[in-house]
Formats: sequence, structure tokens, C-alpha cells
Amino acid sequence: MAFEALTQKLEAVFKKLRGKGKLTEADVKQAMREVKLALLEADVNYKVVKDFIQRVTERAVGQEVMESLTPAQQVIKIVNDELTRLMGSKESRLNFSPSKVTVIMMVGLQGSGKTTTAGKLGLYLSKKGRRPLLVAADIYRPAAIKQLQVVGEKIGLPVFTMGEQNPVNISRAALEYASRHNNDVVIIDTAGRLHIDDELMQELINIKDAVNPDEILLVVDSMTGQDAVNVAEAFHNKLQLTGLILTKLDGDTRGGAALSIKAVTGCPIKFVGMGEKLTDLEPFYPERMASRILGMGDVLSLIEKATAAIDHNKARELEEKIRKEDFTLNDFLEQLKQVRKMGSLDQILNMIPGFSPQKLQGVEFNEKELVHIEAIINSMTKEERLNPSIINGSRRRRIAMGSGTSVQDVNRLLRQFEQTKKMMKQLSELEKGKKKGRFKL
Ligand code: GDP
Repeated sequence: MAFEALTQKLEAVFKKLRGKGKLTEADVKQAMREVKLALLEADVNYKVVKDFIQRVTERAVGQEVMESLTPAQQVIKIVNDELTRLMGSKESRLNFSPSKVTVIMMVGLQGSGKTTTAGKLGLYLSKKGRRPLLVAADIYRPAAIKQLQVVGEKIGLPVFTMGEQNPVNISRAALEYASRHNNDVVIIDTAGRLHIDDELMQELINIKDAVNPDEILLVVDSMTGQDAVNVAEAFHNKLQLTGLILTKLDGDTRGGAALSIKAVTGCPIKFVGMGEKLTDLEPFYPERMASRILGMGDVLSLIEKATAAIDHNKARELEEKIRKEDFTLNDFLEQLKQVRKMGSLDQILNMIPGFSPQKLQGVEFNEKELVHIEAIINSMTKEERLNPSIINGSRRRRIAMGSGTSVQDVNRLLRQFEQTKKMMKQLSELEKGKKKGRFKL
């Protein structure tokens, strides 16, 4: 199975991390050295590995660790996020022409799986309600035309052939044919070569210029590792590819191509070939692939659930306080700490049933202000935090001095707190009549 060795190695690294209760910076760095080795052994591009490790380390070392989650799980989650990012973050879809026949040009080296993939893509699109026409424009490999005809017959799709004529003319004629025969997509199977050569590239450029494709998809064999990445770079430089299809991901590829090709070329992976059968083509989902490589889809969803649980509890407490109208400066501080741990104020408010963060748009704090606010609140006495109205002028000065801020800062904070409290009370009253909403996560 693809990625097997990589998955096993990463699992071993994470198992070691999980065995420790608390993680030190040295633990994280050691783990990252092991991840780095595992990626290099999987034939991932060196520069990609270096950048990846740097990003993960920065995040993992700087990360405040949330309650109830072990730090190791946090590290795993970061690795998962960054792997996803590496492969393109979001699913990348095909471009279709809104007004005319969509032209998809398939390019690639011989043996990469181009002809098979042209058929797979035709089948995939016809299942989606499109009416594809396959075009045999590989006139050099003797069996190529016949091969496409056989594929077309198997999946019940028409195949346009003109024998061994100029591929540019074939492609043009195919477009006209498609318009006349109500085909809305043409998939052009262009010629491959064993190696990249200028003649091949020029022919592909000529076809591109003649038919102005909506998609130029490079089919690459993932088993060829870094070679696949180099091939992709070369094709992309000449043709400005719109996407990649990685084939043979069902084999025992080490994973290097899948993990480096997007980062190196900037070109998104749009589909992956998962077998020899014509149904074995799947849209590429970076997130799922990352989880698969980490071999821990289940663990990740567990982490998500655990994260959600903390937020729910805090949100519930907060809601209770607002309802009872005893939201104090202590809660305000607690809330700010949560904000700093978990992201934005919006996110937290989002978890309060029935509250919409848009309603609180006026209340925004940046990171620096948060530090000041925290210092100010920490300089108050317990009584003052519970009942800020007792804070008089001289106490305000003392608090400002104690927290290294100014009296204006203290005044502003007290105003903001009163405002927030008032707004929350209003919101709570507003929501009272309504049926209680569910937690959003
Ligand atoms: P072309 O020369 O690029 O047109 O390549 P072909 O379409 O003839 O495919 C070359 C070989 O790769 C054939 O034996 C295909 O069955 C095989 N192949 C293509 N895609 C895949 C795939 O995703 N998985 C596996 N296992 N084999 C594939």
C-alpha cells in the first residue's frame, strides 16, 4: 500500500511523544528530526521537507497547550494541518467552460497512465451528467489509438479518431465534431514520450494554441517519486498546467511525489489514480490524504471532539453567568485568556447558544491590548474584580502603575467591561424569548 513505510515511521514517532506526559522543546525538536528523516526516506523533496519541519516546529514549540489534550496530540494535529497545507489545503476542482465545449488536454510521459486516465476521467464526468468525447491525438505510439478506442467502448463513450494526421488538426476537428454531436467536454489524449524532448513540447504547445484548453492536466506516475516532480516542473514551465493527476497511488509508492509536487510546482493535484480499473479515479482531497498518511483519521476526530468539549464547558459556564447577570471582571479575564488560547473572540462567542458574533462587532481586542488588559485586571484586588464600581480615582492610578499602563488605559478597560456586560445582558434578554439554540460545533 502507498505510504506504508512513511505511515509506520510517523506512527512510531508519535507513539514515543504520546508516552510522555509533558513535552519539552527538546522533545518536540527530537520528534521533528525523526519526522524529517521519515519524509526524506519517503523521497519528499529536500526543500519541501525543510520548510515543512520549520513550520511545524515553530507552531509546536510556540503553541499553548489546551486543557485535557495531551501536548503530543497537539503536535500531531499540527503535523496533520501542515501536511494538508502542503498538498494544497482545499480540494481543487476542474474548470468548465460556461458557454462552449470544455476542452481538457491530457499530457504526460509514456507509461504514466495517460490514456487509461483519459478514459477514467471520461467515465467520471459522464457519471456527473456530462457528455464527453475522447480524442485520439497520440499518433506515434502504434497501439495508442486502438487503446483509446477499446477504453471508449468499455465505458460507452465516443472516441474521435483521424488516424495518423497532424495532432493539431485532429484536435481542431474534434472540437467541431463535439459541437455538432452535442458533446460538452472533449478529452484530448496527446502523445507521450519516454523522456521530455523539445519536439514533444512544441507539439503540445501547438495543440494548446489551437484549441485553448480549459484544463491542461499532467498525468504523472507517483511511483517515480522525485522524477515525477521534475517532469511536472518541466511540463508546467512550458505549458502552464492547470492541474495534476497522480496515478498508481494504489501501488507501493513511498509518497514523495504526492507530498512534494504541489509545493514545488504550485500546481494543484486534482485527481488520483487508485488502480487499473476505469472506475479507479478519485478527486484529490488533501485533508483526507494527510490523515491517511498519518494513519490516524480516528485519533484526529477524537482530538476535534475533545477540543469541542472544552469549549462547550466554558461556553456553558459563560452563558450561565450572563443569564444570572454575575459576569465579573474575573470572567472577563478568563474569557480573554480563552480567546488567546483558542483563537478569536468570535470563535468563543460562536459557541454560546443563540449568540451571533456579528452582534458584538464593536468589541475587538488585538493581541497587545490583551496583554495590557490582563495586567490591569491582575493588578486589582479580589473585591475590585467582583465589583469594579468601588475602584476610585486613586486606586485607578495605583492599578495603572502596578500594571505598567496609564489611567486612561484603566478607564478604557472599565468602560469596555461595562459595555460588554451591558451588551451581553441585552443579548441574553433578546434570546430569552427564543427557543434555545444548539451548540454550534
Ligand atoms: P500511457 O502510456 O501514459 O497512455 O499509459 P497507459 O494508460 O497505457 O498506462 C500504463 C500502465 O499503467 C497500464 O498498464 C495501466 O493499466 C497502468 N495504470 C494507469 N493508471 C494506473 C493506476 O492508477 N494504478 C495502477 N495500478 N495502474 C495504473
